[in-house]
Amino acid sequence: MSHDGIKFVSKEEAERAAARSHLTGDAVRPAKVRVDKTGGTGLTIEWRDGHTSHWNFAWLRAACPCATCHETREAEGLEPGETKPKPQALLPMYEAPPRPFDVEPVGKYALRFRWNDGHEAGLYSWDYLRNVCDEAAAQSGRENAR
Ligand SMILES: [Zn+2]
Repeated sequence: MSHDGIKFVSKEEAERAAARSHLTGDAVRPAKVRVDKTGGTGLTIEWRDGHTSHWNFAWLRAACPCATCHETREAEGLEPGETKPKPQALLPMYEAPPRPFDVEPVGKYALRFRWNDGHEAGLYSWDYLRNVCDEAAAQSGRENAR
């Protein structure tokens, strides 16, 4: 699908984007970053403003901020972290749940995940992670505990 560089943004979309990036300063500076690769529970960040965020790996993989994944989500009308309901297959194939082989810091501003499906294009900046934190909590429903 070609967008030719022109993007039509609906009012709701623009409002969502604005709401998503209202956090700055200590709110987007991590104090502690914990990636549970072996346990597989996900990524936890304690921010300097005292808030703690947690995301599981499946959510993070589906929220990949790279251009390709972003465009795919836009085309399918999905929010970061949202996945398309899978069509019923007669013979369901086993799919390994998303997990990172490796996680590395990129400068002082982001993390790069090397996912077990081979994808590694997304740079998860602190800014992005903090600003999608509330959506992740809302979607998983049980991670609102502070
Ligand atoms: Zn991606």
